[in-house]
Amino acid sequence: MGWQDTKNLISDTLALVDGLKNPELREKINQLRKSLLDAMEENTGLREENMELQQQLSDKSEMVFRKPHYWLKKKDGSEDGPFCSKCFDDKNQKIRVREGVTGIWICHVCKDVAKDGRFKPVSSGAVGHVRSLGRNGWMR
Ligand SMILES: [Zn+2]
Repeated sequence: MGWQDTKNLISDTLALVDGLKNPELREKINQLRKSLLDAMEENTGLREENMELQQQLSDKSEMVFRKPHYWLKKKDGSEDGPFCSKCFDDKNQKIRVREGVTGIWICHVCKDVAKDGRFKPVSSGAVGHVRSLGRNGWMR
């Protein structure tokens, strides 16, 4: 039985109730009507919540975590991203991260900073670079 059938049944019943002489029975039927409408409303809310959760689940299955970020796997096999892992894990939000210097990624929403495998600590690399320049002559 669908919602429309239930609503029709309620209307039909109420039409009959108007003809009833027993006020107690009329009152009980009115209470039943109210209780049924509440249940229908609750059911609608649960359906919507269920659909939302289903959507979140399917979104999650399309997101692939490869340290330190999430990537969205598309139906054609390509990937979109990277997305902030903190925002996605905390709030299920897909927030793109931006690369500052090489290998350092910043989320503009939660301000999380993540390093990937391409990140090289600046100190040792820069010192080596300056030394080699010196040896090559132009800093003499
Ligand atoms: Zn974030």
